[in-house]
Amino acid sequence: MIDTHTHIYTEEFDADRDEVVSRAKAAEVRHLILPNIDVSTLERLYAAEQRYFPYCSLAMGLHPTSVTDNYKSDLQILKREFDHRIFCAVGEVGIDLFWDVSTKKNQQDAFSQQIEWALEYDIPLIIHARNAFDETYEILQKYRNEKLRGVFHCFEGSLQQAQKVIEMGFYIGVNGVVTFKKTSLTEWLNNVPLDWILLETDAPYLAPHPFRGKRNEPAYLIPISEKIASVYGLETSFIRNKTEENAQKLFKLSVY
Ligand SMILES: [Zn+2]
Repeated sequence: MIDTHTHIYTEEFDADRDEVVSRAKAAEVRHLILPNIDVSTLERLYAAEQRYFPYCSLAMGLHPTSVTDNYKSDLQILKREFDHRIFCAVGEVGIDLFWDVSTKKNQQDAFSQQIEWALEYDIPLIIHARNAFDETYEILQKYRNEKLRGVFHCFEGSLQQAQKVIEMGFYIGVNGVVTFKKTSLTEWLNNVPLDWILLETDAPYLAPHPFRGKRNEPAYLIPISEKIASVYGLETSFIRNKTEENAQKLFKLSVY
């Protein structure tokens, strides 16, 4: 399995990060993708990459909830990171109208600029779209071409929206939400071809049942993959192999 979206570099893991990584490896999580959040998380991001090399791949970007009045200079700083190294994706980027609607215009601008980075470097986008599917989709449409690809992480939409996502060449990131009692995901997810599904935790957030409300971690891909297997009526091992293959294909991971 590959955890295609995890933030083990944040302070929530400072006390026991090594144990978290050991548990991930014991759970057969073979690789982690760490999307950046903003300028303040760069140092932690690189430190985690170095400590566990070559277990983690990094994505670089400015998270929509970190789009402040300084976003233009923040984008300049983050863009410079591409000058001297390779990232497996631009992320996480997108639009979040759940936490703050007042920054919508700036979020749209920051997102557009970062889509251009993905096209410039020919790498996928890790997209965070919360309460903002139409806004996110509309901007992506403007940039649509054969190079544009990525994943809608923590997908929260409908089957109809999922179909629009895969039709654009984007994957659906499924995490602990699929194990929650009140999710509608389980009603329609098996209509999405498995070729377009990626596993993720979004740790430290959104721990799956029975850990809901606690800190999440990559090893919890086990209950997530089991739940997806039951939704599709397939073997868990099949789900794990197939989604790992998908992640490999999208992110072109060379070291793992
Ligand atoms: Zn995230």
